[in-house]
Amino acid sequence: MHELPIVEHIVDQVDEMARESGEESVALVTLIVGQKTGVVPRFLWDYWPDVCEGTLLEGAELQIEEEPYEVFCKSCGNVFRPDQVGLCPKCGVRKHEILSGTKLMIKQIGFR
Ligand SMILES: [Zn+2]
Repeated sequence: MHELPIVEHIVDQVDEMARESGEESVALVTLIVGQKTGVVPRFLWDYWPDVCEGTLLEGAELQIEEEPYEVFCKSCGNVFRPDQVGLCPKCGVRKHEILSGTKLMIKQIGFR
């Protein structure tokens, strides 16, 4: 379970940014969470209220946008969502480049 340190890190970062820009309270944080990161949004939401307590984020809403895991086949150019094995469904070759799904970042912060 590595979601707790992630939530702590995000809350720290947003709290610092809010203080630096002279904001009094944060209403909303939107995160982009790639499916390939292995981070489970449900756990982020579980930890969120506790970690936000006592910071400028207290009571803030957490929104999560999941980024699908997609790769580009270097052999035939097909774009697909790989399974565990990762073979291209079109040409059967396992040689690809990750296009998306590895992001874990703050997209937007809403202040009160
Ligand atoms: Zn292919």
